[in-house]
Amino acid sequence: MSLITNIIRPEILDLSKYHVPDSTGFVKLDAMENPYTLSPQLQQALAQHLAQVALNRYPVPSYAALKTALKQHFGIPAHNDVVLGNGSDELIAMVSLACAKPGAKVLAPIPGFVMYAMSARLAGMEFVGVPLRADLTLDKLAMLAAIAEHRPAITYLAYPNNPTGTLFEVADIEQILHAVGDSGIVIVDEAYQPFAQASFMPRLAEFDNLLVMRTVSKLGLAGIRLGYMSGNQALLDEFEKVRPPYNINVLTEATAEFMLEHVAVLDLQAAQLREQRSLLAAALSRLPGVEVFPSAANFLLIRVPQAEQVFVKLLKQKILVKNVGKMHALLENCLRITVSTPEENSLFLDALSASL
Ligand SMILES: *Cc1c(COP(=O)(O)O)cnc(C)c1O
Repeated sequence: MSLITNIIRPEILDLSKYHVPDSTGFVKLDAMENPYTLSPQLQQALAQHLAQVALNRYPVPSYAALKTALKQHFGIPAHNDVVLGNGSDELIAMVSLACAKPGAKVLAPIPGFVMYAMSARLAGMEFVGVPLRADLTLDKLAMLAAIAEHRPAITYLAYPNNPTGTLFEVADIEQILHAVGDSGIVIVDEAYQPFAQASFMPRLAEFDNLLVMRTVSKLGLAGIRLGYMSGNQALLDEFEKVRPPYNINVLTEATAEFMLEHVAVLDLQAAQLREQRSLLAAALSRLPGVEVFPSAANFLLIRVPQAEQVFVKLLKQKILVKNVGKMHALLENCLRITVSTPEENSLFLDALSASL
């Protein structure tokens, strides 16, 4: 249809839709969701809290109380402010929009989080992917060479990385921050911080070009869509100009404020998932032919013979994991499994044993 080609940008025509499989009736281990729900008492209290929300009013776009609570509970330095996003996906989109000068580039290790490349392309920027090493650790020398060659406006480092679970070396990240200098920003994406228990947030004052991005999604609140980013105030002021003024809706705001008062519940769930991660990794590595990569996140990346067939056999047993084998050559025969409850983990283990 010529109407479409007349008006839609060619780089959008080239994209395919972000595919989310229908997971009804499945044990859902594909999206790094927290499997636990709230207790009935907490659900009741939350319902009462939400019933008070003024749905007829626009949110107050300063989100001052929410920001204060986020800063207190998530260890953001007192001098640093935060920018809020409708999930960190929106923060990534905002940064791209703000930095998309003609010729500006975005750089990240690959395989990595797909939204970095996606958002760069949507904003009309070139994406430069720097392959990890075969053991899925960061190739620091290749990163430094690519930074020198491309002078990227934005460098993303997911800490730990998705879909590999790798926690890159602190010294490598420091060197990248210095190499980028004032020609670009380095976004350390700490989506899995509750499971990594390592962070660059306390180090913001050391680097003018460092931004730390987080989300409440993996902690157990994926449905409310809330991300936050901190860093140098002059940068945050620019990103604030790009932020849609009411991007955090009143229900998200009220739910987040309520849950931050009860954040111990979520912290306990994260601790349980960290423990389950160790148990699941140990059990998987005892299975013949299964290679388990080290993970600091709430998922495990494994390599199995004939991963494509194993994936299909798991589906037949109503278990949905993520088949990442086609994402990148380094991930050949790899599957990514979200760590879940002891019950779901053992359902998965049994199904996998029967599928190998
Ligand atoms: C899941 C994930 C996000 C997205 O988080 P939302 O806040 O749900 O948009 C960002 N970065 C990485 C590395 C992730 O894995």
